[in-house]
Amino acid sequence: MKGRPASLLVVDDEAMNRDMVSRRLLRQGCYTVDVAASGEQALRMVQNNSYDLVLLDQMMPGLNGMEVLARIRQRHEPLQLPVIMVTALADSKHIIDALQCGANDYITKPLDFPVALARLEAQLSRKWAEEDLRESQERYALAARGANDGIWDWNLKAGAIYYSARWIAVLGHEVEEISGRPEEWFERVHPDDAARLEAELSAHRDGITDHFHSEHRLRHKDGSFRWVLTRGLASRDTDGRAIRMAGSLTDITEGKVADALTGLPNRLLFTERLSRSIRRAHERGPSYAVLFLDVDRFKGVNDSLGHLVGDQLLIGICQRLENCLCSSDPMTRAKHDPTLSRLGGDEFGVLLEAVGCRSDAELVAERILNALRLPLQLEGRNVYATVSIGIALGNEIYTSPDEVVRDADTAMYHAKLQGGSRVAVFDSEMRNRAMARLRIESDLREAIERNEFRLQYQPVISLESLRIVGFEALLRWSHPVMGMVAPIEFVSIAEEVNLMSIIGAWVLEEACRDASRWPAQEGAAPPFVSVNVSAKHLLCGSLVAEVDRVLAKFALTPEQLRIEVTETALIGDLEIAEEVVLQLKERGVLVSIDDFGTGYAGLQYLRKLPVSTLKIDSSFVALMNDGEETFPQAIVTLAHGLGLNVVAEGIESAEDLQRLQHMMCELGQGFYFAHPLDPEKIAAYLRAPANNPGNAD
Ligand code: C2E
Ligand code: MG
Ligand code: MG
Repeated sequence: MKGRPASLLVVDDEAMNRDMVSRRLLRQGCYTVDVAASGEQALRMVQNNSYDLVLLDQMMPGLNGMEVLARIRQRHEPLQLPVIMVTALADSKHIIDALQCGANDYITKPLDFPVALARLEAQLSRKWAEEDLRESQERYALAARGANDGIWDWNLKAGAIYYSARWIAVLGHEVEEISGRPEEWFERVHPDDAARLEAELSAHRDGITDHFHSEHRLRHKDGSFRWVLTRGLASRDTDGRAIRMAGSLTDITEGKVADALTGLPNRLLFTERLSRSIRRAHERGPSYAVLFLDVDRFKGVNDSLGHLVGDQLLIGICQRLENCLCSSDPMTRAKHDPTLSRLGGDEFGVLLEAVGCRSDAELVAERILNALRLPLQLEGRNVYATVSIGIALGNEIYTSPDEVVRDADTAMYHAKLQGGSRVAVFDSEMRNRAMARLRIESDLREAIERNEFRLQYQPVISLESLRIVGFEALLRWSHPVMGMVAPIEFVSIAEEVNLMSIIGAWVLEEACRDASRWPAQEGAAPPFVSVNVSAKHLLCGSLVAEVDRVLAKFALTPEQLRIEVTETALIGDLEIAEEVVLQLKERGVLVSIDDFGTGYAGLQYLRKLPVSTLKIDSSFVALMNDGEETFPQAIVTLAHGLGLNVVAEGIESAEDLQRLQHMMCELGQGFYFAHPLDPEKIAAYLRAPANNPGNAD
């Protein structure tokens, strides 16, 4: 290449020749020139310097040019160090000898300098081109290695593909496991992507596109699918026919559209496709559905068998789902063109197209449940995995994917509440409930500061004397918009968001404050206040101290306070519950078991816990009107056998009362005596003559 600097060595035993040639070369302005007067000197100089080209006189005393050339070629390739022979012997034998010996070219003496220069430049150009090529190849190899790309090189004529080690590694294989057949690639392509890839390849092969570019999924050795981006370029013969195609392969599974664990489209891609369906629904009417799947008890698997097994389980489920939606059920695939996606954690989404009616979507959901009935094999174990499925059917109202997914999620939650491994279809009632729930959750956090909680008190009556012995404190929430909210609407939510201990502490203090103002009735102890305590509050570790504090603060005797806990709260952590109940008992604060018989607890715990009272749930009392007295009677008998008292809840009539009196049930409460009362009405109520039954509120 003209103008590119080069360092030259001129070897000639005749000083005049050396001088003349070197001076003329120097005059070109881009060459540095050294001279050597003998073959021996030339070899030394070649060894100690790095020349770009040697002009070598063939005829020299001592080591002649041919011998010097032979020695140079032992260490330097012709393209690396070109040697041009300068010869006075222009016969072909000498020339052939020189070329065979590794000379790059020859020029004859006397020198025609412009010709000599042209030949020298031609040799240098080749050398530079070769060096540039090698450099760029090295650079490319380095870049490819750095970019973590695989390389493929497809000889279209021979039908063979070279796959680089990295290409092979992307699919989890060892080099020796993959041959040079094109099928190694194409047989691994996801069935959904195969036709598209084929079209993209032939478009470039046929010269329609100037690059080959394709994103598709390839099956990994572990059975999952990886998303890859493949780019390539064809080289063509003079007729424009592609004879070779080569390019790169990049694993884009993680970043772009796919879930790294399962290779499924991730939430992003799912959302994209769902947006498309929503847009189409606005143009042509809704015809899509989203199935939201959540693995039942997945946390249990993760916690007990470890995260690796958890991951394997998700992969296993994903394969079943793919199988069920695509391969084994061509009908579903053809009809609904399902998009299966991992939305995160143990949640999967399925987008169905062409859903004519609700039962279309339900049918697919049932198929999914069925596909998961057989156990998965994980590390030699049989693991049963079921899912809860919520369905949201497309409508004209949805404008964003989030809304659809949210509703499907809400429906899934309902399916889960009903025990899991089932399907629920979203309806507006669920939405209302979900909205109310959300609102309650956020409003609850401020309700305490805003002083929105209230207590009402329902009298507890001695069924023998029909006198008031105490009151049960019942919590209400005076919501600024919703009005008075019953505890059933918010207590379990408050419990879930860990607010119930704080609210419970408020209830305890407030109830004791009110109780401290209740006058004792003639000849009787002051009425007790019975406070409901939630599971978390019971187990949180501070309840006993709170009790001590409020009793002291309001100067109440321990007998003036009772605590009610449900069976389910007790069995959450029986050891701690036992300890807390014991400490309360030691202080003289009695503990009742509320809603007895409605939980799932066995009776075992009753032997351990030092409780004093069982409360018969109002549902059992209500049964008595149908002549069903077995349960209340059994509970009374059981309680008395254990030395416990009984409080019957939900006494609504004189008949209820009589029956319970007959069973020797000690205490009772219910609308028959009184509805829950506001605190300011209690004093008057207590003063009312004899608190006649039926005289209440
Ligand atoms: P519970 O402790 O079993 O309370 C008795 C429930 O029965 C009360 O409902 C009461 O109003 C209702 N009731 C009273 N008499 C009758 C009757 O004759 N017939 C019928 N059918 N029902 C009657 P409420 O006030 O809605 O409370 C519901 C539940 O909320 C309570 O059931 C209790 O489990 C919980 N709760 C109430 N206040 C609190 C509290 O301060 N803390 C906690 N953790 N839970 C509370
Ligand atoms: Mg209660
Ligand atoms: Mg109860």
